[in-house]
Amino acid sequence: MCLATGRSEATMDKTSKRKARPVILVHGGAWATPEGEREDHQKGVHRASLNGFETLLTGGSAVDAVQKAVEHMEADPTFNAGRGAVLNTHGNVQLDAAIMTGDGLRAGSVACVSGVLHAVALARAVMESSPHVMLVGDGALEFAREAGIETCEPGSLIVDRERERYAHAKRFMKPGQLDQLGGLASPADTVGAVACDADGHVAAATSTGGALLKLAGRVGDSPLIGSGLYADDRRGAASSTGYGEGIMSIVMAHRAVESLTKSVGPSEAAQQAVHVLESRTQGRGGIILVDSKGEIGFTFNTPCMAHAYIAEGMTKPDVGI
Ligand code: ASP
Repeated sequence: MCLATGRSEATMDKTSKRKARPVILVHGGAWATPEGEREDHQKGVHRASLNGFETLLTGGSAVDAVQKAVEHMEADPTFNAGRGAVLNTHGNVQLDAAIMTGDGLRAGSVACVSGVLHAVALARAVMESSPHVMLVGDGALEFAREAGIETCEPGSLIVDRERERYAHAKRFMKPGQLDQLGGLASPADTVGAVACDADGHVAAATSTGGALLKLAGRVGDSPLIGSGLYADDRRGAASSTGYGEGIMSIVMAHRAVESLTKSVGPSEAAQQAVHVLESRTQGRGGIILVDSKGEIGFTFNTPCMAHAYIAEGMTKPDVGI
């Protein structure tokens, strides 16, 4: 097990009229990523961070950037989100996703959705075009059609790798048995992103297939505002990954964002949150954070968490696993 932390180096240009340094940080899930899959995970987060950053540089907001980065990883079959998501106990993909902007504390979320590649785009539509924060199941799919979000044949999201994992898990795991050890027994490569734009607005997004062999209807932390993600312009934004039942119990993302102060930066806030996850729930996972000045931090207590970040002044993303 390793405990890794990170912090960006560049500082804000004091002469600039900008309120913050544009930055995006993404993760590809905290778990025991198999050796043979690590390169694809690093390539995937690298490209996702660049996609999100380009959005920031071309006038997009923080919420546009996190959506773009997460959509990239939903389309990449490497990750447990969109195409490539893990299968539930019935052998189906059921997706959870959410998005939140710190500008006005607006959020949108979907859970137990089948037949949508970009669950994060649907969550954004819930935020912007419905009077609600969260829609689930068939109602969420009906809303997707009304809102013009592209739908697909649910089976088209299933990849051979996950068919094989499902067949293996069916033999060795009980239905609904969850991996508290953060991917040591089953995959947990949920995706997430946090960003800060030049106006000092922060945002977070998370998207996942949840847990392998989860019971039909199980909702994890990822679409839950406060657990899987949180964003508040007064402090910062966070996206969680790992043992969902533990993350929900400690409301991890909100806990981390609220702990950001002048003296507690994103790295320390991330470490404190994962420490609570481990000490109170024996859970494994990770979290990425950005504050409203554009400083970032992340940590994980699993063997790996693919991550990449790029900020103004950097020529290429910093990538790790
Ligand atoms: N937290 C997710 C869930 O429990 C899994 C993950 O992060 O990979 O659904």
